[in-house]
Amino acid sequence: MADLHDSNLHCSFCGVEKSAQVPLISGNEGRICEACVQLAHQVVSSWGQRRKNMQTLPRLRHPAAIKKHLDEYVIGQDKAKKVLALAVFNHYLRMMHHDKPFCQQQEHVELEKSNMLLLGPSGSGKTLMVRSLAQMLGVPFAMSDATSLTQAGYVGEDVESIVQRLLEAAAGDIQLAQWGIVYIDEIDKIAKRHGPSSSVRDISGEGVQQALLKMVEGTVLRLPKSGRRREGGEEVSLDTTHVLFIVGGAFTGLETVVNERLNIHKGIGFQATPRGAWSGDTASQSLDSLTPEDLQKYGLIPEFIGRFPVTAILNDLVQDDLIRILTQPRNALVKQYKKLFALQQAELVVTNDALEFIAQTSLEHGTGARGLRTVMESALHDTMFCLSPGEGPVRCVLDAVILDEETTSLQVNVTPAQVSKEEGELVSRAEWMS
Ligand code: ADP
Repeated sequence: MADLHDSNLHCSFCGVEKSAQVPLISGNEGRICEACVQLAHQVVSSWGQRRKNMQTLPRLRHPAAIKKHLDEYVIGQDKAKKVLALAVFNHYLRMMHHDKPFCQQQEHVELEKSNMLLLGPSGSGKTLMVRSLAQMLGVPFAMSDATSLTQAGYVGEDVESIVQRLLEAAAGDIQLAQWGIVYIDEIDKIAKRHGPSSSVRDISGEGVQQALLKMVEGTVLRLPKSGRRREGGEEVSLDTTHVLFIVGGAFTGLETVVNERLNIHKGIGFQATPRGAWSGDTASQSLDSLTPEDLQKYGLIPEFIGRFPVTAILNDLVQDDLIRILTQPRNALVKQYKKLFALQQAELVVTNDALEFIAQTSLEHGTGARGLRTVMESALHDTMFCLSPGEGPVRCVLDAVILDEETTSLQVNVTPAQVSKEEGELVSRAEWMS
């Protein structure tokens, strides 16, 4: 009976007739041929890929929400945080829609990538801002120092190593790495060298800028899968087109370049300010008038500058900022030390005078917020060394003590304390040891 109908059986999808060359798989209601099975497999696989892509999309939020997140970690720098939040929002918005061209009056509008340049003194929060951002977006983040880079073929780090690091941060997931953020610090150190040595090849200046340019613009790099290039080793391709590049630097002396240009303008016309009489502006105020030409004069090549159309300027931190940095951010230094002490049955109290003194000392060292840890560490070092959880809870008060008219010093006063675990977040010795 079945044989009687066999010659009239068709694939329910494409309609091909069953034959010796075209067997059919029968289901409850219909049949399917081999070609349709293969096609269905391709379609289902593409769904899987699309689902995977969806999972790797960054957690995009409104620029105001990005800024709010940055506020939890970065003190001050409001303008820079806003610029960064908007630039990153636009970047990922563009990426999420890059395969859906926007047509307006039959014009194809393609949104171009906007890499960023952060200018600000050392220890003002450039790296912290980018790192906090990558964390929030849930995208891989790699950081590099421009001073370690050289042109391919020279001793030093190859620019490709930066992208290799990004791939590692993405645990080898190419798709994820292609959405990542790369931060290159000390970019001002690869400014073109001026002067008599210009006939010598500038392997650490212009050459590196040229090498970076290609990567920043977007190129497909062949990277070793295992992380190290070996003869015959497996390679993977990584497209840098959508990788967001953020570069930062202190650009010491750039304000002079800006001031000089402004001075020339001021020097034209009635009531002109005489050359050399320009005064008053702080570095960051001068940098508000920064133009691409100033960066070119500083030593960046025009093509490189053109690839970083968004610029954010970070200010010098003042004493009040440093005090807030010590206490307010989620991961504030004082909070960290309090926790470290609590783990040893000790309550740490830092007085306002001590906070002011620590901030002032760090400012005097000229290291921005970076110096705060050093000052605190040296003030608390001896006390931490002597802490002994087995001898019961203690209270340690860090204060600034005036020794004489010219000398103030940080001192720690340690007294026995009756602090319950609930009150002081203290843990027992047993927990401490485990
Ligand atoms: P930069 O990259 O500008 O040289 P970093 O971002 O590396 O400086 O800052 C060094 C450290 O100083 C950070 O890890 C952070 O603890 C602290 N810091 C610097 N600036 C700020 C800031 N604006 N708000 C909070 N902490 C800051």
